[in-house]
Amino acid sequence: MMTPEKDIATVQGTMEILHKFSLRPRRSLGQNFLVDPFTREKIIAAASLTREDTVLEIGPGIGALTQALARTAGQVIAVEIDRRLADVLRALFDGVDNVEILQADILKMDLGAFSRARGLTHFKVTANLPYYITTPVLMRLLESTLPLTGLTLMVQREVAERLTASPDGNYGAISVMAQYYADIRIAAMVPPHCFYPKPNVDSAVLTLVKTEKNRALVSNENILRQCVKAAFGKRRKTLVNCLAEQPWLGCSKGEITQILVQCGFDARIRGEALPLCAFITLANALNESAK
Ligand code: SAM
Repeated sequence: MMTPEKDIATVQGTMEILHKFSLRPRRSLGQNFLVDPFTREKIIAAASLTREDTVLEIGPGIGALTQALARTAGQVIAVEIDRRLADVLRALFDGVDNVEILQADILKMDLGAFSRARGLTHFKVTANLPYYITTPVLMRLLESTLPLTGLTLMVQREVAERLTASPDGNYGAISVMAQYYADIRIAAMVPPHCFYPKPNVDSAVLTLVKTEKNRALVSNENILRQCVKAAFGKRRKTLVNCLAEQPWLGCSKGEITQILVQCGFDARIRGEALPLCAFITLANALNESAK
């Protein structure tokens, strides 16, 4: 097994490849390439990879991370939307027998069919994500029943802080739902100079390990999802007022107040003050009242 000899995750390595293949990074595709080998090491360490692992890499770019994944994991399947970059990757990783390059839009791929076709009983996702698709990619992976054993993702720092926030922080519907599906940790902060071209924002490496512990407590996941969405929909309104506007719930303000009080919550509480465990209690009570 070989990988390209030159280190791609450096300014010099990246410039050489861009120059050799006459490439200009496309801002519209979130092309900010990793040029810092120390950050790459942090990503690899956070991913806890072994030769037993198959890794799905989303957005390999010109291979800065792919190169290290190939040296650490058993199999790397890298999905790149940009045909120019997919061609460059095929040239760079020609003869590297544990790297497969697919030219595709990750948002359009049927990942269930993909993992079944390859007979994958488990796999990990590692990616320096294009920031414009972070939320849809992340939620699709978390909500799926794919046999995912871990996700290690470079995301915008604000997104990392939001995903790991509690009610006294930068909390939102996505914080609740992401924490519902996974145990989430920030593994490293990454400044703009670690990329070429430099993005306008700071970044962070996140690890997410999917968990069933919260799912086991919920009687109707759809109600939980709707409830969280409604609670954060109009932040200046109380939870009672937000929920009373929901046609799917069909409850009066009085009925919702009663349910909240039975759950042990202040009737004037706002959704943004409820931790995940409280949303679970509330969703179960709403489901019970709907019967
Ligand atoms: N992994 C490389 C690195 O660390 O240097 C590149 C990361 S760059 C932030 C994001 C990459 O995702 C780009 O190469 C971009 O073309 C690719 N990309 C953007 N949208 C995508 C999509 N919908 N599906 C697959 N790849 C995508």
